[in-house]
Amino acid sequence: MVKPAMGDSEKRVPQVTVKRLSRYLRALERFQERGRETISSEELADELHVKPSQLRKDLAYFGEFGTRGMGYGIARLSEELRRILGLHRQWGIAIIGVGNLGTALLRYKGLNEKGFRVAALFDDDPEKVGSSRSGIRIHHVDELPEIVREKNIQIAIITVPAPAARYTADIAVKAGIRAILNFAPVSVKAPPGVECLQVDITADLKVLSHFLVTLEEMKGVEIAHEE
Ligand code: NAD
Repeated sequence: MVKPAMGDSEKRVPQVTVKRLSRYLRALERFQERGRETISSEELADELHVKPSQLRKDLAYFGEFGTRGMGYGIARLSEELRRILGLHRQWGIAIIGVGNLGTALLRYKGLNEKGFRVAALFDDDPEKVGSSRSGIRIHHVDELPEIVREKNIQIAIITVPAPAARYTADIAVKAGIRAILNFAPVSVKAPPGVECLQVDITADLKVLSHFLVTLEEMKGVEIAHEE
């Protein structure tokens, strides 16, 4: 949850809304690349398969952006969304656990797009500590507090095995990190003032699996599968 930029300061903005804002921004950037200057809420909503009323409600948390009959100015709305999402600043990221997933994320260019920068890597494997990946040095996880300060890091991505996740999250929080993206399949309890988001592809797969069995059971659709 984030606080709205304007209006009632007690009103909190739901996380699903914030997630949709980044999708709106990506769509606006695509329209801008094609040379468009304005867009209606209907067209933008249609592009993202959301209802125009949902889009207007999401944006209304932050103020008035469109002009009746004229739609939204794409450049201005993109700029506002970047500001609301904090992308007008540069956030330093630490990846803790440089194994299969940590390395794959490091190579993902989305982690080094405007607003984000992978600043340091951490592991506890003596064979990895001291080496580099994509030009970034791997430090021992015990060095976190010092490197977080030195490299101005605000976000930690945790990609260690489950048994090490809580311990590494603790070190990150003690080092002053207030935003954690945890990929390990164990929930990490963040203290007040720290936001921890859990990413779980297998949970999403189970949602899809549930959808498929429901389709078979409720709608009588037959889906070929292995036993
Ligand atoms: P991996 O074994 O390849 O890598 C783990 C890395 O963490 C290794 O380099 C290891 O040395 C390091 N490590 C272990 N303990 C540590 C500690 N205390 N401090 C610092 N570093 C430590 O594993 P992987 O395949 O990259 O998976 C990493 C994690 O991500 C696992 O918890 C896995 O379950 C999870 N995972 C999550 C998703 C998802 O959707 N969220 C998808 C794939 C994997």
